[in-house]
Amino acid sequence: MHGVAAAPGIAIARAQLVSHATLEVAHYDIAADQVPAELARFDAALATVRSEFEALHERMKGSDAPAEFGAFLDVHWMILTDVQLTNEPKRVIEAQHCNAEWAVTQKMRELVEQFEQFEDAYLRERAHDVVQVVERIVKALMGRPSALPLINPKHATALVAHDISPADAIHFKESAFAAFVTDVGGATSHTAIVARSLGIPAVVALHNARSLIREAEQVIIDGDNGLVIVNPDEHVLTEYMLKQDGQRLDRQKLKRLVSTRAVTLDGAAVDLNANIELPSDSKACLENGADGVGLFRTEFLFMHRDDLPSEDEQFEAYKAAVEGLQGRPVTIRTFDLGADKRMPGLGDRPSDNPALGLRAIRLCLAEPKLFMTQLRAILRASAFGRVRILVPMLANAHEIAQTLGFLARAKAELVAQKIAYDHDVEIGGMIEIPAAVLSLSYFIEHLDFLSIGTNDLIQYTLAIDRTDDAVAHMYDPLHPAVLKLIAQAIRAANKSKTPIAVCGEMAGELRLTRLLLGFGLRNFSMHPAQLLTIKQRILTSNIPECEALANRILRSDDPDSIAASLARLNAL
Ligand code: PEP
Ligand code: MG
Repeated sequence: MHGVAAAPGIAIARAQLVSHATLEVAHYDIAADQVPAELARFDAALATVRSEFEALHERMKGSDAPAEFGAFLDVHWMILTDVQLTNEPKRVIEAQHCNAEWAVTQKMRELVEQFEQFEDAYLRERAHDVVQVVERIVKALMGRPSALPLINPKHATALVAHDISPADAIHFKESAFAAFVTDVGGATSHTAIVARSLGIPAVVALHNARSLIREAEQVIIDGDNGLVIVNPDEHVLTEYMLKQDGQRLDRQKLKRLVSTRAVTLDGAAVDLNANIELPSDSKACLENGADGVGLFRTEFLFMHRDDLPSEDEQFEAYKAAVEGLQGRPVTIRTFDLGADKRMPGLGDRPSDNPALGLRAIRLCLAEPKLFMTQLRAILRASAFGRVRILVPMLANAHEIAQTLGFLARAKAELVAQKIAYDHDVEIGGMIEIPAAVLSLSYFIEHLDFLSIGTNDLIQYTLAIDRTDDAVAHMYDPLHPAVLKLIAQAIRAANKSKTPIAVCGEMAGELRLTRLLLGFGLRNFSMHPAQLLTIKQRILTSNIPECEALANRILRSDDPDSIAASLARLNAL
């Protein structure tokens, strides 16, 4: 099956299907004297599923699975033991003389409808959990108890889903999942970004994976080529095992570069920073020799909960990241909530165009209490190391002025309360809207540093929803308009000696490293797993050669000639 390559690498695994589909079951009548037997059959199925959950709980105790899995399981357990599913279906069997599968799915539909009415997005999403639990009951009824491959330590498990929300994906951090496969999504959706940060392969936009792959079936996920091979034969399996070994060996070799400085052949030093989502990612930063954190996506800290994090809670998280980086700078981005990163009760009103709506800094400025709490927490963490504040999605002078006003107020409050913070903390803006590039002088004048978010810059330049698989093929980092905007921003910033980085996914794309060097970029920020690969490329690059071909590429509006020049650049 062909999809969109979202995270590189190869996994050979067993599939675990995550269902969002409404169950299709047979509906038949039973004779009145068969009702007790049907009730007993239903009870037996419930008992089977209950013991499956208990076994899973036991297995988790001994494993180093993250606590979130426990929470995940608890929700399912609560649903399973709710009278709506344990008793109500029996009333249906008794009243309608119908089969147990039909009775339980009827009740499921009612429950799902109730969940879908909730205003709270988190609760609304739990409708999926209801479906998953009922699916287990139906499987048990049909004499096919689930294989339960969830975090089975014996073999690698690939998660196969119609879609995975960024909030769910972050839950799988440090889990035993070997790969993600989804029917929908784009390569720079936040779900894909999390998969990359986990260092596991992912293929998205497969369209029919969920219906074509069967539970526990063997799959090869080729995240380099966007391929999923189902039930491979011996020959293909051997070939991929060899490839996997080769990749492992390459990764080991790269480890030698951890403490090597990233300097081009002609002596230009390059800063290589990491993108993180959780304070615990600091470990991966150090293991891969990051110079610091160029982007801490703080919004991921607080997904999957229905209240807002307190100042103290945030402070502890930011401080943990700062301390984890052991003196290296940590660029903390203020909440980029909204669009595909939803938080219950916050900017969560339905919107036809969420990516163009109340997102990121717009949401923060509309919710001053939320913004002030975060700014105070970040400032307090700045007393413990080198902190920089980065603001997402700035588009105009008014937003910059308002942001700086809030920051000044947060500082004044801390001064009045005699709470320590770094008085020299730098504030930077993300350049991810074409309008920002085209009015960059104001950004340069009022901010200490800039960071180009290419994921959104591409989305907003080309009018391509980065999460929509239907247009994923048109999402093109090499579109001449995108390249011109990036080069223009880098050159303007360099000219005024304003530090500028790229922290979008383009920074971690090997085929683009020399092009960005040629545009004048000397600061890259990417998921930690990619740092050493990019460093190796920098070590073998020569700036004048990069500049010459980058200029040629910038002069062209023809995709074929851009591709040809890029190929030449990478063959140097
Ligand atoms: C970007 O848009 O490139 C970026 C780094 O921010 P995010 O991916 O979190 O939107
Ligand atoms: Mg962005």
